[in-house]
Amino acid sequence: VMDKEYFFNVIEKIAELVEEKRDYLTELDAAIGDADHGFNLSIGFREVSKKMPEWKDKDIKGFFKSVGMTLLSKVGGASGPLYGSFFMKFGEPADGKEEVTFEELFQMFKQGVEAVEFRGKASVGEKTMVDVLRPAVDEFEKAMKENLAPKEIMEAFIDTARKGAESTIDMIAKKGRAMRLGERSIGHLDPGAASSTMILEVFADCFP
Ligand code: ADP
Ligand code: MG
Ligand code: MG
Repeated sequence: VMDKEYFFNVIEKIAELVEEKRDYLTELDAAIGDADHGFNLSIGFREVSKKMPEWKDKDIKGFFKSVGMTLLSKVGGASGPLYGSFFMKFGEPADGKEEVTFEELFQMFKQGVEAVEFRGKASVGEKTMVDVLRPAVDEFEKAMKENLAPKEIMEAFIDTARKGAESTIDMIAKKGRAMRLGERSIGHLDPGAASSTMILEVFADCFP
């Protein structure tokens, strides 16, 4: 089972990683966007880190609702509302829970990804974070149906996320700021695809 400690740890680690990769993510965004993706996430996750001690007594749903609302309110740009929605919905299957099963963890990712799709209206092939999130969560489901062990499922999940990120390099952006570049967006890794891969990797790295 995945308990509160796991999820708190994941968010702490994401916050650290965002600091570490802030300039890299901003550089990716400089190529096809407005050079702020790393900064946006850094502002958001610094605020999350600051407030986390106040959230220690919440259930898993309440914790992620707070994470999501903080990102939503602090992060400018497209990624704030998208990651905000992701985390707000991510916690919902864990209503009233202090720990979740592996099946419930899958439901959490599923709902989170659906929230991003609903909010941003992007689908696979449009050079966004959805090119990572959608195939990754589909692979999770497929691997579960094949009765793979949880560790193996997490590996397949991350492997698919990484491939999804890589696939954005050859795409023409159809959503977000990069869309204005048209064909000139080809040849660049999408910043949101890079950050969402990093985030999913933390979930897998911390996996008990
Ligand atoms: P902004 O582009 O507003 O400055 P960020 O730089 O923080 O915001 O985030 C840009 C990332 O957001 C993109 O790389 C892309 O992955 C993601 N993104 C933008 N628009 C959408 C959308 N409609 N649906 C999904 N993801 C999107
Ligand atoms: Mg930007
Ligand atoms: Mg911006």
